Amino acid sequence: MALTEQAAAAATVVTQGSRGSAAAAEGILGRQAQRESAARTYARSLPIVPVRARGLTIEGADGRRYLDCLSGAGTLALGHNHPVVLEAIRGVLDSGAPLHVLDLATPVKDAFTSELFANLPAGLAADARIQFCGPAGTDAVEAALKLVRTATGRSGLLAFTGAYHGMTAGALDASGGAPEVRVTRLPYPQDYRCPFGVGGAEGARLAARWTESLLDDPKSGVPSPAAMIVEPVQGEGGVIPSPDAWLRRMREITAARGIPLIADEVQTGVGRTGAFWGVDHAGVVPDVMVLSKAIGGSLPLAVIVYRAELDVWAPGAHAGTFRGNQLAMAAGTATLAYVRENGLAERAATLGDRMLAALRGLIPAHPCVGDVRGRGLMIGVELIDPDTGAAAPGLAAAVRRECLDRGLIVELGGRHSSVVRLLPPLTVTDEQATAVLDRLADAIPAAGRRPH
Ligand code: PMP
Repeated sequence: MALTEQAAAAATVVTQGSRGSAAAAEGILGRQAQRESAARTYARSLPIVPVRARGLTIEGADGRRYLDCLSGAGTLALGHNHPVVLEAIRGVLDSGAPLHVLDLATPVKDAFTSELFANLPAGLAADARIQFCGPAGTDAVEAALKLVRTATGRSGLLAFTGAYHGMTAGALDASGGAPEVRVTRLPYPQDYRCPFGVGGAEGARLAARWTESLLDDPKSGVPSPAAMIVEPVQGEGGVIPSPDAWLRRMREITAARGIPLIADEVQTGVGRTGAFWGVDHAGVVPDVMVLSKAIGGSLPLAVIVYRAELDVWAPGAHAGTFRGNQLAMAAGTATLAYVRENGLAERAATLGDRMLAALRGLIPAHPCVGDVRGRGLMIGVELIDPDTGAAAPGLAAAVRRECLDRGLIVELGGRHSSVVRLLPPLTVTDEQATAVLDRLADAIPAAGRRPH
């Protein structure tokens, strides 16, 4: 088919929606496989062609419908195309406002900043500054690292085992790999695979003790760092909530030593974990918060908010062309307000507890379910080889396939990609949650029966 004919065929699928054919979808997927980078990710495990979406539901070009528990990797706090988000976007479009404004002041940006500040932890909101970054979470991580390095005059960084902060160089350093700046890797507490073999409060206490001793031992080889960066719940690392007492201890340890604490709330923010921010559970006030995903209401937006005294940047110290996405700011304002006004963080806490309890109920009958954990609507199911207890990435991938066959989209995460992850929108209904749980409960034994 000539390129123009291909484009016409693709346009037909979009306009026809559910009447688009499976053959047209196959064509699109085939061309994608041919043309797009080998680095493509979700596209490999989810061979669908979304053409329409609302709330939890996505409709493919072949007419099939799916319950989407990936939610744009945790971006869609209100699900797809929520009416308040669409209305906010249309409002900007219809107003004639400029869509590209660099970092100039606009009423849309002013409203976004006001709504965001109204929702920040009170201890930070009282005297906070905001920097609009490039549009991705990783851009905001870079900005945060640069800020604390400028403010402290130090370069090293404390980061945790299992961390994920993005894909640009500095964020990758913080995530693991071969760092260019000096990153000291500290143990993130976890019950199921506790690095100290004890789990629980004692495991978390030992993790904190290790951190303290590294910082205070003059021969530890750890120079005084520019910051500590932490996810209140590790997402990509396998859905690992940090114990509240441990997070408070990290706050005490960093505060006592003049080390800024950066909370990476890219994935945990805006109600996801059952509180407006992940740090709220522990009552911790970080020095810097890194925010993206849900704050743009499904469109690209990233910011850092930080204590005013860190604001020692010179004008233009951190610039970028795409820092003024008006549509994202309007969609973000609507999302933040809707989550606040409708108590969706509390709703995530209640429903998350119910879903966790239901999933834990699978453990006795399914020895391949090693652990079920999470906080709010950030949920993980770790699959294992029942004989050895080892992580089972092949089985997890098979579960994801079986879920897709049953019309359920889930993602994998964790150190070994053996954790099935659920990140449903905060607007998911009880009935939808039950449908999600039923499909997953059905997919797990089905995956076990198939060779993988
Ligand atoms: N930090 C955390 C905690 C994340 O989960 C992610 C993305 N999954 C990022 C940073 C990077 O965000 P982005 O993909 O938008 O660069």
